[in-house]
Order: sequence, then C-alpha cells, then structure tokens
Amino acid sequence: MPPHRSTSTRVRRVNIPFVPAANRPLVDGFSRVVTYLRVSVTDRCDLRCVYCMSPEMTFLPRKDLLTLDELDRVCSAFIARGVRKLRLTGGEPLMRRGFLDLVRSVARHLGSGDLQELTLTTNGTQLSRYAADLAAFGIRRINVSLDTLDATAFRKITRGGDLAVVLEGIAAARAAGLKVKINTVALRDLNEEVFEELVEWSHARGMDITLIETMPLGDTGEDRTDRYVPLSRVRSQFEKRYTLVDLADTTGGPARYVRVTETGGRLGFITPLTHNFCQTCNRVRISCDGTLHTCLGQDDRVDLRKALRTSSSDEMLNDAIDGAMRQKPLGHDFVIERRGQSPALSRHMSVTGG
Ligand code: SAM
Ligand code: SF4
Repeated sequence: MPPHRSTSTRVRRVNIPFVPAANRPLVDGFSRVVTYLRVSVTDRCDLRCVYCMSPEMTFLPRKDLLTLDELDRVCSAFIARGVRKLRLTGGEPLMRRGFLDLVRSVARHLGSGDLQELTLTTNGTQLSRYAADLAAFGIRRINVSLDTLDATAFRKITRGGDLAVVLEGIAAARAAGLKVKINTVALRDLNEEVFEELVEWSHARGMDITLIETMPLGDTGEDRTDRYVPLSRVRSQFEKRYTLVDLADTTGGPARYVRVTETGGRLGFITPLTHNFCQTCNRVRISCDGTLHTCLGQDDRVDLRKALRTSSSDEMLNDAIDGAMRQKPLGHDFVIERRGQSPALSRHMSVTGG
C-alpha cells in the first residue's frame, strides 16, 4: 500500500526566473544553443564563381534587401539573445554600399563585451581599399576565399576575376593587422592539383587554410557531380607527404582541423557531404532579404523582414525568432546530385551567405 498522502501536504514552490523574450537564450528543440550568426548583407558580387553563381544571375530587387538599419537591428536582437560570434558575408559583403557604416555600428557590441567576435568572409577584391577601416572598427580576423594561385585558373573559376587584385587585398589585410584564413573550395579539374601549393603558401605567411567540399546550392550553370572532390581522398593524399596531427579545435561547425607538422600551420577540412556535424550545430543564418535559415542544408525559413517592417518594437521579431528556433531541424540531408539533376536546394550560397 502506498503511504497515505494528505491533500494538505504543502508543495514548495520553485521560482522559475522570468526571462523577457528579448534576452531569452536561443535554444532549439534539441537543446542546442545558438551562439553564432551569419548574415548575408547582399546577394550581389563582382565575381561569378562557377560553384556559387550562374553566369547570368538575377539579383533581388533592392526593396527586398534588408536596409542597413534593419541589418543592425536584427544583429543586435540576436546579440541580446546570446549570439557571441557574428559573421558578415554575402554575396560579396564589401560590395554593399554603406557596409563600413554597418560594421562600425555592429562593432559597438564588441565594445560593450556582448559580442566576442565580429568577422567577415570576403573574396578579397576590395580589401586593399577597406582593410585598414575594418581593423580600426574592431575586426580582428577575416576569411578570404582563394581557390588557386594561378591567374588563368583563377579567371576561369571566378569567371573573369583578377588574381593579382586579391593577392594585393590579402597583403593589405595582413599589413592592417587582420588575421587572415584562406577558404578554398575543392574542385575537380580546376584546382585539385594545387592544394599542397596553397597550403604551403598560406602557412608560409602565417595564415590558416580550410578546404571545403562543394555543396549543391543553387543553379550555377554547371553540373556539380563533375566538380565534386571528396576531402577524405585529399586528406589521404596529404598524409603521404605530411604529418597531420588532429586538433580538438572546433567552431561548432563542419570544420575539422589538423596541424601540418612540416609547415607548423593549421589546415581545416569542411566536409558537409561526407561527415555529419549537425549534433553540435550552434549557428543560424540570415539571408540578405531577412529570411532566417536555421539549417544551411534544409529549406526551413522564417521571414524576419516582415516582423522588422511591421513593428518598431522587437516583440514580433523575437516571436518569429522563437518560432524558428522551435523548428530548427536536427540535421541536413545534402546529397550530391546525380548528373543532370537540379541542386538539393534552389537558393544560392550568395543569398544565404557562406
Ligand atoms: N563572396 C565572399 C567569398 O567568396 O568569400 C563571401 C560569400 S561566399 C558565398 C562564402 C563562401 O562560400 C566562400 O568561401 C565560397 O567559396 C563558399 N561557397 C560558395 N558556394 C559554395 C558551394 N556551392 N559549395 C561550397 N562552398 C561554397
Ligand atoms: Fe561571389 Fe563569393 Fe560566390 Fe564567388 S563565392 S561568386 S566571390 S559570393
């Protein structure tokens, strides 16, 4: 017989602290905490990389893009809710008019200590002009995309870009005191013979480098099965020549890092297609039209622009963010497409931001 319980037993009330939505941490349905936000500030770009854009891109009408004030407001709302690292990207972020004003404004959260890192991903073409300002506003590290050191191959991969301009940009960034990490997308027949050269070149200049598997995002006018290089194979090739020491370093994303003993530098592998990194996912993305994507590899979306434009208070915005957090999928389901099929997701990386 269970002991008799008196109905008058006094229950101790537990005080659950009330946290207003504007400061509530971003926790999804799988208890993952979001602390990293990537924001695409434009879908436009001065290059047309074969894995990212089609030669004839149609860009969004300007009215559909978040304004600089809206970008600042949405970044600030996420920072208030626990985002500690913020990456500005695109398209090419340095092509967005007023971009430096946005950086200066968002950087106030670095000053207050609410934001730990403000960074950007760029193709480097405008760095000679802007690197000193970026450093002055508090940016310490940037990622620069560079897929080859050969001017002809660079022109082919970017459909017309000038390698010399990017190399000058990288030099300017380093001279301004910015720490540069190189991002290289692995592309069959375009750069797979030059990974070692790129790694040695980067490490000789004190720059980390990350190799990235091409992801099936958006129509690029190319068949991606022809370009896909599994990085597991690249790593095996490296191991024939170098000693790779696994590092525990992680950003909560799909990159895994090794130290290359011979060069002393760090090399990352981003393998969204061959490894599952979703259990530790700590990030969400906002595309340049204000759509919140809680998973790069799924088509989930929540319209934040509507909330931003409907009300000047952040209540609607925070409700929309809460709704998105509840829907954040457990993981992506990228599959590299069979020849001739459409991409896994129709949106381009340049809209969502890499
Ligand atoms: N324009 C800037 C740049 O190129 O660095 C920032 C935007 S770009 C979309 C961000 C990153 O995404 C770049 O490193 C680029 O190489 C990568 N990227 C673009 N399309 C990709 C794809 N389909 N698969 C893998 N990486 C991609
Ligand atoms: Fe432009 Fe970057 Fe896309 Fe290349 S990868 S087309 S530089 S947005």
